[in-house]
Amino acid sequence: MTDTEIRVETMESHRVDVAEQQRKTTVYSFSAAAAVCIVVIGVWWMTRPAASRVAVQRSITSMQVTWQCPDGTTFEDRGSIIGKACPHGNRRADVRVTYVCPRHGDRAALVRYARSLNGQERVAEVSFRHGVWRPVGQYLRCPDCGARLIPKEADPFAAGGGSLRSP
Ligand SMILES: [Zn+2]
Ligand SMILES: [Zn+2]
Repeated sequence: MTDTEIRVETMESHRVDVAEQQRKTTVYSFSAAAAVCIVVIGVWWMTRPAASRVAVQRSITSMQVTWQCPDGTTFEDRGSIIGKACPHGNRRADVRVTYVCPRHGDRAALVRYARSLNGQERVAEVSFRHGVWRPVGQYLRCPDCGARLIPKEADPFAAGGGSLRSP
């Protein structure tokens, strides 16, 4: 080995060290960012307001809501925990509520209510597509992206100073 060859070899191994060092730094900073994210999400989860739970604070029977029949007819009437018959064809109508998805915007839905064991009224079922109903858990979620939906302001349960819990 000549002197030049040795020098080149040393430089190359030095370059490899630098690359390895940069890789490690990248891994460390990524891990740190991930850790920060986990902490932030954790804090948000612990401190999130309970207001978005699906339970309804005020009785739906005291509110004027929009009902929609499977034939598309809509009418205004007092809320009810059981469905209401459409005045036109006598078919079962359901309460129409518009929700907002952070990604997809307005999402029109039909909802059906039920009474929990503790007597509280809650949204029990939701339909985003004609004739397709699904049970609602703690939160209403967008059927396309799974994001939590919030009721649009027109929602009757959001009225009254915003202190009411909404479906
Ligand atoms: Zn009808
Ligand atoms: Zn969505």
